[in-house]
Amino acid sequence: MSAKLPHGITPPAFIGGQKKLLIGGQWVPALSGKTLDTVNPATGEVIAQLAQGEKADIDRAVAAARKAFHGEWSQWTPHDRHRLLVRIADLVEKHFDELALIETLDMGAPLARTRSLKNWASQAIHFYASQTAAGGVVTAPNSLPGRYDTYKIKAPVGVVGGIIPWNAPLISQWWILGPTLATGCTAVLKPAEDASLTALRMAELLLEAGLPPGVVNVVTGYGHEAGQALAEHHGVDRVAFTGSPETGRRIVQASTGNLKRVSLELGGKSPDVVFADADMDIAVPGAAMAVFSNTGQICAAGTRVLVQRKVHDEFVERLKTYSRELKVGNGLDPQVNLGPVVSSKQLDRILHYVNEGARDGAQLACGGQRLGGDLAGGYFIEPTVFTGVNNDMTIAREEIFGPVAAVIPFDDIEDALRIANDTPYGLAGGVWTTHLATAHRMARGIQAGTIWVNCYGLLDPQVGFGGYKLSGYGWKGGAEHVDSYLYQKAVYMNLG
Ligand code: NAD
Repeated sequence: MSAKLPHGITPPAFIGGQKKLLIGGQWVPALSGKTLDTVNPATGEVIAQLAQGEKADIDRAVAAARKAFHGEWSQWTPHDRHRLLVRIADLVEKHFDELALIETLDMGAPLARTRSLKNWASQAIHFYASQTAAGGVVTAPNSLPGRYDTYKIKAPVGVVGGIIPWNAPLISQWWILGPTLATGCTAVLKPAEDASLTALRMAELLLEAGLPPGVVNVVTGYGHEAGQALAEHHGVDRVAFTGSPETGRRIVQASTGNLKRVSLELGGKSPDVVFADADMDIAVPGAAMAVFSNTGQICAAGTRVLVQRKVHDEFVERLKTYSRELKVGNGLDPQVNLGPVVSSKQLDRILHYVNEGARDGAQLACGGQRLGGDLAGGYFIEPTVFTGVNNDMTIAREEIFGPVAAVIPFDDIEDALRIANDTPYGLAGGVWTTHLATAHRMARGIQAGTIWVNCYGLLDPQVGFGGYKLSGYGWKGGAEHVDSYLYQKAVYMNLG
């Protein structure tokens, strides 16, 4: 890693060197001694080595989490956990510029985007702090003959295995750490091999805030090794997984040994529906950024842009103009809208889908090329728009996870709903209209976990997020999320 970064930015001291695993409050190398490189996708440069955790390391981490679950941590009151989470929130806010820069260097998102996650992270941690009293005893009235008192005890499920992807680790790690710490569970977190650095830096902040040893353990490594071992482990009581449906299936299969609880936050192919009566000044940039934000690497991206036929040509012209004006480049540049995609593998996958689109007969309206010149060392691709797309084409059915919009015309609201719901996924949907009844009909009719009307991509930890169909199960955020980290038992007390 060079001493200086572009745009006068100083690299954080955390970048570089060999990272370790956090197990039982100690930073340790993988038992095998193996490491793997982690790369800045904007330059292709190796920015650190990660410890390549495997099954033996997962065994150690799960044992440490189990010990912590029954140890001092189990005596912490809701107030103690609340105070811990507030201290963590303060530290995260204080160090957020550094965390954002690490995330940008690690997975490529523009600094403007990673910095903007500060509010979300702070709100999420404070939300989970507000939930620390969710466990405990709740009275439950009964109608039994005789005299019985009945109550329910909610207690933490135990050891949580958290497995997260690379596209927004700063967010996805908190969907697991938040409910874990709020409820008194413990966790082993397995970040993605392409972007593990913010989880490791966050773990340092957790220790600084006073987290007892073993309550959160972090094991970096490959999915088929460390991830698989964690999902299979009989010492794990609950797996919280965010990632692709293919891996989600493996997680479910791996969970059958001890029938652990599983929640799955998977992919999407979300419809974003533009009606002829929409305010085009907000619909065009809104629909464009619903696809292109984070260079298309967002599970809820509105990648199927359904446009009412009456305004199709006008909308496409404006979408093309908007897309061509977006600046693609190194996310350290404050002018950049789209950073690189995370890896050369991901870039190849996107280029493969661009070829598929053309082969299936869709028209490439703009973009579709890897960028060279100054950007040749990184994994950059132009924002891409396909028109003339039929909902049966591969680019309309499969999740690309890159900046590729598939524009599909429709005639009326019934047609829009038919196309919107003709997908194996159900993560999200968008609607652009000025007609109130259309907005309500679409919000009810689209089969997906989140609907945005005249906006896109908003996410509040208190409201939450989840999927229908192949997009997974288990709501994250809100009180029900916290509840899913608790066991429940009923007590019947004969009062004589
Ligand atoms: P992925 O499924 O390849 O990997 C996700 C995580 O699972 C990584 O940590 C990986 O190491 C691990 N993993 C891989 N194989 C494993 C195995 N056999 N057992 C256990 N763990 C394993 O997904 P990705 O490519 O990193 O991320 C992109 C996917 O994530 C997309 O499908 C995207 O839609 C989805 N995603 C969903 C949400 C959501 O909230 N619904 C959010 C972000 C991303």
